[in-house]
Amino acid sequence: MITQDQLRVIALEEHYWDYEVETHFKGRDSSRRNALMDRLHDLGELRLKEMDEAGIDVQVLSHGAPSLQRVDAESAVALAKSANDRLAEACRANPERLFAFAALPTANPKAAADELERAVKRLGFRGAMIHGPTGTDGWLDKKEYWPIFERAEALNVPIYLHPSWPHKNFLETYLSDYLEEYPALGGPAWGYTIETATHALRIILSGVFDKYPNAKMILGHLGESIPFSLWRINQALNRIENTGGASFREIFSKHFWITTSGNFSNPALLCCMMEIGIDRIMFSVDYPFVENNEATSWIPTIPLCEEDISKLLHRNAETLLKL
Ligand code: MN
Repeated sequence: MITQDQLRVIALEEHYWDYEVETHFKGRDSSRRNALMDRLHDLGELRLKEMDEAGIDVQVLSHGAPSLQRVDAESAVALAKSANDRLAEACRANPERLFAFAALPTANPKAAADELERAVKRLGFRGAMIHGPTGTDGWLDKKEYWPIFERAEALNVPIYLHPSWPHKNFLETYLSDYLEEYPALGGPAWGYTIETATHALRIILSGVFDKYPNAKMILGHLGESIPFSLWRINQALNRIENTGGASFREIFSKHFWITTSGNFSNPALLCCMMEIGIDRIMFSVDYPFVENNEATSWIPTIPLCEEDISKLLHRNAETLLKL
């Protein structure tokens, strides 16, 4: 296996699709190009070959968006169990290379908390990934979802907050003039960032971390641009007209970890380091939507010392996910 200077390389926003879960995807969520579908459906040979070629030692697997977040409570609970069981089987076949984040039936928050516990305790999963709001406006900061934070804290595992295709009102009002020519504008180029950064902001302002002071979250894509705007968000939320009293910077820096998924920029990485420190930043690719090679060929160009590179590539993930 090729590794970057013999350092273990762990990537933790790496997706697959489950055959049963994807039958619930509708409209834009269900369409992906054929080459992507082959890779999304593979949890063995093709995936491991592409990991070897690029020098990725470990993938922490998660379902692709929107996972179970648009499946109703009635169907989602059983579906989560069967999909997580199948994912666990794939991980057991390659126990050194593949680990997993659970898919959660968030339409039933209590069942989602129970499934998280089952996935962590019985299947050896390292946390869960949640893709945007449940349904159209089931943002995780709403109190009905707090049992998920409570259980994640008790289990000492992180929740990875991932984007999903944004609400149609946002797309229509803000982006529709350009979406036909640039569909990615609604997704990875801009829409995902707005949706997920907004979701994270709401969670921070909700007070959920006062209640669960050891709850941990992960954001991809170098923190969905929040580190770049951290000073301004924090200053603005403390201007005189605001009465909430939350210290945005303090909460973000204590409860959030970020990954490099799909954002391999040295200036952006250095900005994140200066705002939140290297200990909270972890390497990731966003396979198969982004090529492994694009991520690993970036590694030798990162202007950091060996100590920090080892934290970025594997040590931070090993600590947070107990790998
Ligand atoms: Mn992703």
